[in-house]
Amino acid sequence: MEEREFRPVLRPRDALPDVAVERSCGECTLCCTVLRVDALRKLGGLACTHLVSEAGGCGIYQDRPRICRSYRCLWLQGGLEEDDRPDRLGAVLDLVSEVGTPRLAVRELTPGASDENPRLRAIIGRYRAAIPVRISDVRAVMDPNAPFRVLLPENEEHRVAGDVREVWREGERVKRSRLPLTERVARRLITRFQAIRRRGYGDGSGNARD
Ligand code: SF4
Ligand code: SF4
Repeated sequence: MEEREFRPVLRPRDALPDVAVERSCGECTLCCTVLRVDALRKLGGLACTHLVSEAGGCGIYQDRPRICRSYRCLWLQGGLEEDDRPDRLGAVLDLVSEVGTPRLAVRELTPGASDENPRLRAIIGRYRAAIPVRISDVRAVMDPNAPFRVLLPENEEHRVAGDVREVWREGERVKRSRLPLTERVARRLITRFQAIRRRGYGDGSGNARD
C-alpha cells in the first residue's frame, strides 16, 4: 500500500477520507460512557443505563437522543485506520477546537493505555508533532480537577494534577508551578456548576428520562 504523508486533520469535515460513511460502531460502545446526554440526565464519564450489557448496544436504539445519533468519534469519521476502533485502542479520540486552537483529545478507557498500546502510541506520536494531545481518563470527562497530560512536540509534556502543572522534557521534570489564577478560578466555577448539575441528574447514568 502506498505510504501517505501524515497531515493532521485541522479541518475535519474537509479533510476526512471517504471511508467514513462505510463504518459502523459494531461492538464499540465507548461513547455511551464518554458523552453527556442531557435528554437522559446522563453525566459524561458514566456508563449509560440504557447500554444492554449482554448483547451490547443501546436498549433504546430507535428512540435514542439526538446527541447519540449525531456523535461521531474520530475513528467513525474515518480519521483513523480500520483496526483502530476505540474499543480496540482502549481510548476514544476526538479532534476538538478550543478558542480556535485544535487539539487531539484522548480519553483512556484504562489509565496508561496511551503508553501501553503501540498503535495508540503511534497515533499520538504523529499528532503531537503538529497539535497538542490531551490525555485524560474516560471517567473524568466531567471532573475539571482530574489529572491530565498534554503532549507537545520535542518530547515536551505537561502534567496537571490539582492546582499544579509540571513541565517534563525528555523524561525529566524541568518546571513545577501553580496554575495561573485565572485557570484556578475557572476550575472552581466549573466544579461548582458540575456539582449543581450532578444534583439535578440523580445518579447521572441516564435513569431519569424526560
Ligand atoms: S466511540 Fe466511536 S466507534 Fe465507539 S461507539 Fe462511539 S462513535 Fe462508535
Ligand atoms: S441512549 Fe443509547 S446510544 Fe445514547 S448513551 Fe445511552 S446507550 Fe448509548
